[in-house]
Amino acid sequence: MIRIGLGRDLHRLVQGRRFLLAGVELEADRGELGHSDGDVLAHAVTDAVLGAAGLGDIGALFPPSDPRWKDADSMELLRIAFGKVKEQGWHVVNLDSVVTCERPRLIPCRECIRAALAAALEAPLEAIFVKGKTAEGLGPIGEGAAVDAEAVCLLEKQGSTN
Ligand code: MG
Repeated sequence: MIRIGLGRDLHRLVQGRRFLLAGVELEADRGELGHSDGDVLAHAVTDAVLGAAGLGDIGALFPPSDPRWKDADSMELLRIAFGKVKEQGWHVVNLDSVVTCERPRLIPCRECIRAALAAALEAPLEAIFVKGKTAEGLGPIGEGAAVDAEAVCLLEKQGSTN
């Protein structure tokens, strides 16, 4: 049986915060605002994986109203979420993702980001991909006020044909 999931997230970019993508810190003059560490890619990937398994979403699992998740390491949240997915017998076939922001450029850090996601999802590196885009100067992302991430994840489990 295979299932596909989609995740999307957007965070404001503000001074005095770190810019994290899948736990990898990129050099930037602004970082992601959020209740947790604000890691927009980790959040989109978590939602894609949970959605594919039909196990809810990141907001239900880790509500922002819960002080336990204040400044949380979002890659740890992804590992917890993936643990629940794995418990149901799923493994990741592949994950693809796009991060859109004006700055910083993602490409120099792409291999580190892929490796971090591959480790968290217990998948081979070639099953994980990350693309960087800009918004061509348009809208809040183009003005450098926000960063957006989208992810799709295909899961598979043995023992059923539907
Ligand atoms: Mg988020």
